[in-house]
Amino acid sequence: MAADVAKQARRAAVVAVDLGGTTTRVATILLGGETGVPSMPSAPATFATEPDYAAQIAQLGEMVDAAAGLVRRRDGPLLGVGVSLGGRIAVDGASVAVAPNLRDYEGRPLVQDVMERCDGVAPVRLAHDALCGLLAEQRLGALAGMPRCAYLTLSTGTGSAIHLESPAGVGVYTSIELGHQILDGNTRVCLCGQVGCLETFTGGRQLEQRYGQPIETLSADQWAALRDELVEKLSLGLVNLAHLTRVEAVAIGGAIALHHPELLPALRVNLRERLCGARLDLVPARWGADAPLIGAALLLTTPMGAVIH
Ligand SMILES: [Zn+2]
Repeated sequence: MAADVAKQARRAAVVAVDLGGTTTRVATILLGGETGVPSMPSAPATFATEPDYAAQIAQLGEMVDAAAGLVRRRDGPLLGVGVSLGGRIAVDGASVAVAPNLRDYEGRPLVQDVMERCDGVAPVRLAHDALCGLLAEQRLGALAGMPRCAYLTLSTGTGSAIHLESPAGVGVYTSIELGHQILDGNTRVCLCGQVGCLETFTGGRQLEQRYGQPIETLSADQWAALRDELVEKLSLGLVNLAHLTRVEAVAIGGAIALHHPELLPALRVNLRERLCGARLDLVPARWGADAPLIGAALLLTTPMGAVIH
């Protein structure tokens, strides 16, 4: 069955959706081909994410219908639709559990609603955006072939997902709440409601609220202070990650990491000083801002049983 799916994937296209807290992107992704590298025949269609769930489904449906129609005329069979969501997915893998930036989406059967709105488009697969980023990096990116690894996105929030695989090749992907681990002595209230979360030091939205301006507009001195604190706290989080999950490599992506490549070497130095009895290599994510779209497409060639929501 999995082999059939993989064979089919080599010649089929997927409509991929990156549904984020502020922006939604829809693209056709062609998987496979001679190089094995996914390609995007045209730039993604982009629109502002509707906070109103019904309005979002209506607009998303139109875009997915249009993309699916184009695929069938131009690229051949459509393997399905993959959706990356900036929020936690319910254990059924088909509905939204928690989405702090999209409250109206919580509890909604997103997969069913997209299938009903886009008549004839199936299957529709859904996953957390960090898990999609991990799929892109572990299957075809900076973590290719790594049996024990993680993806970390430093962006509006601090999201993560891990992949663990037995020596026999049985592996699972699951998202974890790296940003909402509690650091000792941290009295800051997180947007999630908890006191003391790592994300109060690393999440773009929370940093913006603290400084009263987008962090990309901070002065050099302000950024230097923020950066040192971010590296210090995130290193603690990564030490915990290594010990709690036993992953051995992390690909780091997200807007903050993409705009500040100097973070990675600083994190490596801190990790070397702190981490004992475990190993954790840090690498830049290969797919950058497109990781959620590529990963959403790869959901269609990933067995359902390999993803734990
Ligand atoms: Zn939190």
